[in-house]
Amino acid sequence: YTAKERQSGVQLYDPSADDHDRSRLLLLSELRLGLAESQLVVHYQPQLSLGSGRVTGVEALVRWQHPTRGLLGPVDFLPAVERTALIEPLTDAVLDAVLAQLREWCTEGIAVPVSVNLSARSLIRADLPDRVLSRLRAHGVPAAMLRLEVTESALLTEPARAGAVLGRLHAAGVTISIDDFGTGFSAMSHLKHLPVSEIKVDRSYVAEMTSSTEDAAVVRSVIDLGHELGMTVVAEGVEDAVTAEALASLRCDVVQGHLFSVARTAGDVTDWLRNATRSPASRP
Ligand code: C2E
Ligand code: MG
Ligand code: MG
Ligand code: MG
Repeated sequence: YTAKERQSGVQLYDPSADDHDRSRLLLLSELRLGLAESQLVVHYQPQLSLGSGRVTGVEALVRWQHPTRGLLGPVDFLPAVERTALIEPLTDAVLDAVLAQLREWCTEGIAVPVSVNLSARSLIRADLPDRVLSRLRAHGVPAAMLRLEVTESALLTEPARAGAVLGRLHAAGVTISIDDFGTGFSAMSHLKHLPVSEIKVDRSYVAEMTSSTEDAAVVRSVIDLGHELGMTVVAEGVEDAVTAEALASLRCDVVQGHLFSVARTAGDVTDWLRNATRSPASRP
């Protein structure tokens, strides 16, 4: 600790904070290795049209098959990674996995767009469009099959830079979606200047909408706002039929949640999609 802290006579050294730093550094070095050894895996959660029940896309959700700790979810490692530049190779690894999968699905005749989550940090990187577009070309996947999910707060920290990055991606045919909508302090005025085609109502509002009139009001307003701006509105975290019905009556376009499917491995979601996308006539 500093001389000043020592002078004050107060012991500011916090051993638990030090432990925390050490475990964070360990985690980051393990992840660096994990990236090199392809320990990251992508699971996929289907999104369905409320009107037709058709699959409109799947969201890619990263997991880490840790050599000793088992399968870790994003909450276990992303917050630490997002504070460092390591998030960039992680994003690239997710994109590579997703685009290879998209290529396979296209070959099989399964045409389903995939949404990939971007961290705030990546959004203001001037090299992001080239990283995405060169990968689309390398995998031979049309840009229209890729959606990028960004959060409101990420858009608002550096709106000009984020706008330029998203503008290039959008111009190339990539769809932009705003995730967790309603949790940031969204300046509505920014929305209309950004090339956004979709907003996702945050799970916290969706989960409570049938028991809380306030949450229901937020959901209704977001759906109406999205529609006013010509966007598709997705509700995430739909867990029961009552919520799905309430969303249908508010004319929400797309739903995603455990009621329909949890996030599945690539193999499982492929089986699920084969079933879901097969024409009704050919179903047994
Ligand atoms: P998100 O993008 O808002 O993703 C939705 C999260 O809600 C996922 O958690 C999903 O599994 C979960 N979920 C979906 N439906 C339900 C439901 O009905 N009930 C409940 N209780 N949960 C549901 P997950 O996979 O743990 O991901 C958490 C967050 O981590 C994501 O939130 C996203 O912000 C971030 N994330 C995931 N994958 C990536 C990635 O590849 N890159 C980046 N930068 N962030 C990622
Ligand atoms: Mg998301
Ligand atoms: Mg979300
Ligand atoms: Mg979320």
